[in-house]
Amino acid sequence: MIWVKGLPFKIAFFMWKVWKEKLPLDDFLKRIGYCMPSKCWCCVQPDEESLQHLFFRSETAKTTWKYFISRAGIDVEGLTLHQAITKCWTANVCLRLKPALVKVRKPGMDMVPHKWQDLLAMMENFTPKLKVTKVMWEFPSAGWLKVNTDGASRGNPGRSSIGFCIRNEKGDIVKSVGKEIEETTNTVAEAKAMVEALRFCRSHQFSHVEEMMQLMNGSNYKVTHIHREGNKLADHLANYALDYGEIECQQFCHLDAQGRRCNYDAYGNPCCNF
Ligand SMILES: [Zn+2]
Repeated sequence: MIWVKGLPFKIAFFMWKVWKEKLPLDDFLKRIGYCMPSKCWCCVQPDEESLQHLFFRSETAKTTWKYFISRAGIDVEGLTLHQAITKCWTANVCLRLKPALVKVRKPGMDMVPHKWQDLLAMMENFTPKLKVTKVMWEFPSAGWLKVNTDGASRGNPGRSSIGFCIRNEKGDIVKSVGKEIEETTNTVAEAKAMVEALRFCRSHQFSHVEEMMQLMNGSNYKVTHIHREGNKLADHLANYALDYGEIECQQFCHLDAQGRRCNYDAYGNPCCNF
């Protein structure tokens, strides 16, 4: 059980030395003939430094053991370190722990075994099924503008901002804005970002607009939802407003360096969303 796949070698080796009682502690040195005064470093009132003391009998060790095994319903009172370890490995997997240990970390794994050893072996060989979606910012159709919007709230509710950018069919920036608004929540900030962006479009008589959020559907407004990876620039603008203040520009070259990098999503570079 010590040589488990995925456990760093130095930890496995250390555990093996503990199991074999080969750590160079005072009791080990005494066994091979070196006699000297001994004092542990783990207790307020020091005891002799021995493997049993350090890993099993000291207050620190006891607290650690109790913390983990009381949850698993295992009692190691009156046992030696070896007996306690063996008992843990052969005990049945506590029903209460199964969902926390297995279902959360390895969703999709069923038929969970009853013994820790079997559980470990099964988890080692478990290959999760990954769902990957490719997320891309796609160019709007000819004659259309695409609006990406995002809201940010630090603390939710807390200091908040909105960000939006409007790009044409070539992916060029027509307008991008990031500014702080009143303190509010994430959801409100996101809604405000949309409203503000659409208001801007209307005031500039942009008639064919694709809005990348999932809220409303107007006659010449197409509304779709996009994953965060496809909405990088709007996200960046909203956060920029909170970090450095208002930002507004009509051209790619007026964006800050990170904003320019974010805008590369407009050149068809895909991101993966897991
Ligand atoms: Zn101690």
